[in-house]
Amino acid sequence: MVFQGLADRLQQTFNKLKKKGKITEADVKEALREVRLALLEADVNFKIVKQFIDKVKDRAVGQEILGSLTPGQQVIKLVNEELTELMGGTQSKLTISSSPPTVVMMVGLQGAGKTTSSGKLANYLKKQNRRPLLVACDIYRPAAIKQIQVLGQQLDIPVFSMGDKNSPVNIANAAIEHAKRHGNDYVIIDTAGRLHIDEALMDELIAVKGQVSPDEILLVVDAMTGQDAVNVAESFHKQLTLSGVVLTKLDGDTRGGAALSVKAVTGCPIKFAGMGEKLDALEPFHPDRMASRILG
Ligand code: GDP
Repeated sequence: MVFQGLADRLQQTFNKLKKKGKITEADVKEALREVRLALLEADVNFKIVKQFIDKVKDRAVGQEILGSLTPGQQVIKLVNEELTELMGGTQSKLTISSSPPTVVMMVGLQGAGKTTSSGKLANYLKKQNRRPLLVACDIYRPAAIKQIQVLGQQLDIPVFSMGDKNSPVNIANAAIEHAKRHGNDYVIIDTAGRLHIDEALMDELIAVKGQVSPDEILLVVDAMTGQDAVNVAESFHKQLTLSGVVLTKLDGDTRGGAALSVKAVTGCPIKFAGMGEKLDALEPFHPDRMASRILG
């Protein structure tokens, strides 16, 4: 997974600490120095790293760690708790609207995994006995409509499309009417992405948002894109006020630490994680489980 390098480094550091029966303040300092380097090397945003280490230090000092029976374990526990907090603390669930359908708008840059994640999310909801409707609002990328139709067929989930001659605002609107008539309780709108953020893209997304008042606006972020992931998230959040993030490609093998900063920088919770290309490879994101996975 994307955090493997970070996981290996942290586990190494903590193994050293665990082996020592007694530890000194200098040992704790040294361990935290290594944690800091590991986080930076994993591409976690440097401001976030500083805040993180300061917090752990503060807590370590306040808690009489050195005098405890298992000082090494205590330090690990603190790092685990702060890492969980960094990724959002508790699990943040998908909203359910009290007046169905629940409208979920998927946004993000091209190639982030938006269309695939729309299909995966629909599949996830279907498995929970929901009746999702996928909506093809990406009218610009060649083959995007076809792609979501194929996904729908594979998953046996209906796809609403009006081709590429109608505006996304009209399509989204008509899709919600369609969902109401057909008893679909979730509407998942796959919007267009661009290679870079541009005004036309944002204006269109803002227009769709204004028209359909989504219950969720989920930004799909490729975990392998480094610090850019944070910039992209900030910029989308500023314009659209996101309700959450879907982190994709966590199964990849690059550093991915930037993704850990997304929550801390934007305040938007990570709601789902994409763990592969297959259509069942989407998991609700649990900050505590991810922290434990990283710390081994
Ligand atoms: P979009 O342009 O944002 O709609 O991106 P797509 O949904 O077309 O996805 C772009 C590529 O990323 C496709 O080849 C997907 O199979 C791949 N992809 C999406 N999510 C994941 C994931 O979680 N893991 C991996 N390994 N690949 C993914």
